[in-house]
Amino acid sequence: MKTRVVVLGAGFGGLELATMLSDALGDDVDVALIDKNDSFVFGYSKLDVMFGRTTLDAVRLPYHDIAKPGVRFLQETITAIDPAARRVTTDGGVHEADFLVIALGADYDFDATPGLAEGGNEFYSVAGAERLRELLPTFSHGHALIGVCGAPFKCPPAPSEAALLLHDYLSTRGVRDDCQISFVIPFGTPIPPSPDTSRALVAAFAERDIEFVPECRVSSLDPTHRRAVLDDGTEMPYDLFLGVPKHRAPDVVLASGMAEDGYVPVNPQTLETRFPGVYAVGDVATIGVPKAGVFSEGAARVVAESLIARLRDGEQPGAYGGLGSCYIEFGAGRVGRVDVDFLSGPKPTGTFQEPSVALVAEKEHFGSSRRSRWFGH
Ligand SMILES: Cc1cc2nc3c(=O)[nH]c(=O)nc-3n(C[C@H](O)[C@H](O)[C@H](O)COP(=O)(O)OP(=O)(O)OC[C@H]3O[C@@H](n4cnc5c(N)ncnc54)[C@H](O)[C@@H]3O)c2cc1C
Repeated sequence: MKTRVVVLGAGFGGLELATMLSDALGDDVDVALIDKNDSFVFGYSKLDVMFGRTTLDAVRLPYHDIAKPGVRFLQETITAIDPAARRVTTDGGVHEADFLVIALGADYDFDATPGLAEGGNEFYSVAGAERLRELLPTFSHGHALIGVCGAPFKCPPAPSEAALLLHDYLSTRGVRDDCQISFVIPFGTPIPPSPDTSRALVAAFAERDIEFVPECRVSSLDPTHRRAVLDDGTEMPYDLFLGVPKHRAPDVVLASGMAEDGYVPVNPQTLETRFPGVYAVGDVATIGVPKAGVFSEGAARVVAESLIARLRDGEQPGAYGGLGSCYIEFGAGRVGRVDVDFLSGPKPTGTFQEPSVALVAEKEHFGSSRRSRWFGH
């Protein structure tokens, strides 16, 4: 019988894992790749959708395009995970695994921020970005507040990017002078591991008259009086609230008993959980790296190499390095880049590349190379 690898979640982590297993093992392995959605959307595409730079249809990558030897994509919703038995229940049936990989990402906890659902908007989900695409053209004067409701959150540069792109968007429409933009973030600097990147972002905010409010998070909204309440008690009035909701592991993961303090603990070198043959990669896991696609992908590679080595009697890979590069939209048609190293030294470090037009093309290649590797087009 073929070795059964069940991969839960077809995001950055799950797609990379299934691709590597197929490339190395082909039909010698049975990989079930399970996701409740019918398509994948890159995180950064949500910003493009929100600001009307593209449409959802143009950026959706349907899972039915996946044609890889050894890989079966199953569009099913996972309802229970039994890590000790390596058994997964979905709305389509029960899946038994020899190796189980949890790559279910992080969900949003809208109720954790009172008033957010009624009085705010968020740009972290596809639905939220689509709603904002309709709403933003109606915003022509007043105070836009971009607020992070809790850490950790996905892609730490994304709210800074939203502030800079909002500036461009309002400027293009000729209404920037009638609008204020403020940005609230729980960190002391926009990108704590990279002082150079943070300095460049803070300078970009200042040049564009964007108010930067560090070391605070939005703890609630008062939709009636249109006020955001920060965790230090300060109140900020707003006319348009663009929020990053609090994150947590999906309910099915919390119910499985695998999570501690909200996420799944793993050995950061091997990504193994405390259950034999069960791994967790990406945003769902506590690894000591940011919640970003590049890190999910890097962790998935280590798990793939480890499984391939086990099945081919090869050598186990080296430890997961916690390295990743993130592209940062600075507006005005330029993209910067930060390369971060989270695990190799005593503390995280980062190097910054100034925003340029060349990096716009590099970011495009980042997306198109993954699209072709994972989806074949
Ligand atoms: C606005 C924004 C911009 C971003 N920009 C970048 C960027 O430039 N670079 C970068 O590297 N990262 C970026 N990110 C972050 C990136 O999108 C995530 O960190 C990444 O997708 C995490 O990968 P993952 O595989 O861990 O989880 P995900 O990609 O979230 O995949 C998890 C999958 O699990 C599925 N799932 C969850 N629960 C169930 C269930 N019960 N049953 C079945 N399926 C389920 C989901 O449908 C999902 O497809 C951005 C995120 C946002 C919101």
